[in-house]
Amino acid sequence: MNNKENIEKLYTSGDLPDDGLISLITIMDKEDEELIYSYAREVREKYYGKEVYLRGLIEFSNYCKNDCKYCGIRRSNENASRYRLSTEEILECCDKGYALGFRTFVLQSGEDLFYTNEKICDIVSRIKANHPDCAVTLSIGEKTREEYQAYFDAGADRYLLREETSNPIHYGKLHPPELSIKNRKQCLYDLKDIGYQVGCGIMVGSPYQTPENIVEDLRFMQDLKPHMIGIGPFIHHKDTPFRDMPDGTLKDTLHLLAILRLMFPHILLPATTALGTIHPLGRELGIKAGANVVMPNLSPRGVRGKYLLYDGKICTGDEAAECRSCMERRIASTGYQVVVSRGDYRA
Ligand code: SAM
Repeated sequence: MNNKENIEKLYTSGDLPDDGLISLITIMDKEDEELIYSYAREVREKYYGKEVYLRGLIEFSNYCKNDCKYCGIRRSNENASRYRLSTEEILECCDKGYALGFRTFVLQSGEDLFYTNEKICDIVSRIKANHPDCAVTLSIGEKTREEYQAYFDAGADRYLLREETSNPIHYGKLHPPELSIKNRKQCLYDLKDIGYQVGCGIMVGSPYQTPENIVEDLRFMQDLKPHMIGIGPFIHHKDTPFRDMPDGTLKDTLHLLAILRLMFPHILLPATTALGTIHPLGRELGIKAGANVVMPNLSPRGVRGKYLLYDGKICTGDEAAECRSCMERRIASTGYQVVVSRGDYRA
C-alpha cells in the first residue's frame, strides 16, 4: 500500500500492519502530512471538540538518584544546580495556578528520596483538600506498587511515567544497567491496575532509536491502553554523555502525534515543552497535528532555569501568569481554545 492508502486505513480502522506504520514513520510527503493532520484533527474534535486542556507543571525537585544518559538532571551531572521546593512552596504554586484557571497540577521531579512516602502523601492530600475540584498528577518515577497505592489513597488521580523505549536493547543504550524496561513496564501496569489515569510515552529521535523501535512502542501502548501519551523530541544536553547526539525533529514528532491520535482516538496528547523548544511554533503545530493538552510551567521563577533536562528549554524566565496568557494566545491562534477544566479522559 502507498502512504495515502496507509493513512486511509489507519483513519478507518485505527491500526496498520508494522510495515504500514514504518512507512508512515519514515516517509511522509507534504500531501500525506496534510491528509493525516486533517484526519487527526477530525478525530480529536469528535471526542474533545475544540477544547485544549491545561496542566500546571510544578517541577518540585531536580535531585535524581538515577543516571539516565540523556537527562540533564542525571545524578552525575555536577554542573546542575540542585533545588527542592518545600511543601508550602508547592501548595503556593497550586493556589496561584488555581486562580489562573488551572484544574490539574502535575508534580514532577527527579527520583528524589528526600520526599518520603509520607511527604508525598501529605502534599497530595493537602492539594486535594485545598482544591477538591482539581486533579493531581504525579510524575516522580519508579516506585513499588505499595507506594503507588499509598499516593492513590492520598488522592492522586493520575501518573505519568514514560517507558522511553519498549525495546530492551535500546533501553539499555539509554539507561544505566540498574534500570530495566521490565520494571518500567511493570510500574505502568501496576499504576493502571490501581486505578490511576496513566500516561506513558517516548522521546522521538532518542539516540539509537529505529523506526522498528517506535513500532514496538506503539504495540506496547496498544497493550497498556494508557489514558495519556507524552511524546516530545529528544534534545541533547551539554553535560550528558549524549551531548553530541542529534536532536529529534519537529517533523518526526508531528507525524507521530498524528499517528497516535488515529491509533488512540480518545487519548490525552500533550504538545510538549520540548516540541516548543525545537521550533518556536512547535506546540501550535502539535495541536494542529492532533494534540489536545498543553502543560505551562507553574514552578516559581527562581528555580525554573534549574530544571534543565535538555539545552535551550523555553519559558524558564516567565511568571506563571505570563505563561498562562501566552499559552491562551498561542492556542487561540490555532483555532482551538484552552478551557478551565480538569480535562479528564473521555472513554
Ligand atoms: N523522574 C521521573 C521519571 O523518570 O519519569 C520524571 C522526570 S523525567 C526528567 C521526565 C521526562 O523527561 C522523561 O520521561 C524523559 O522522557 C524526558 N527527558 C529527559 N531528558 C530529556 C531530553 N534530553 N530530551 C527530551 N526529553 C527528555
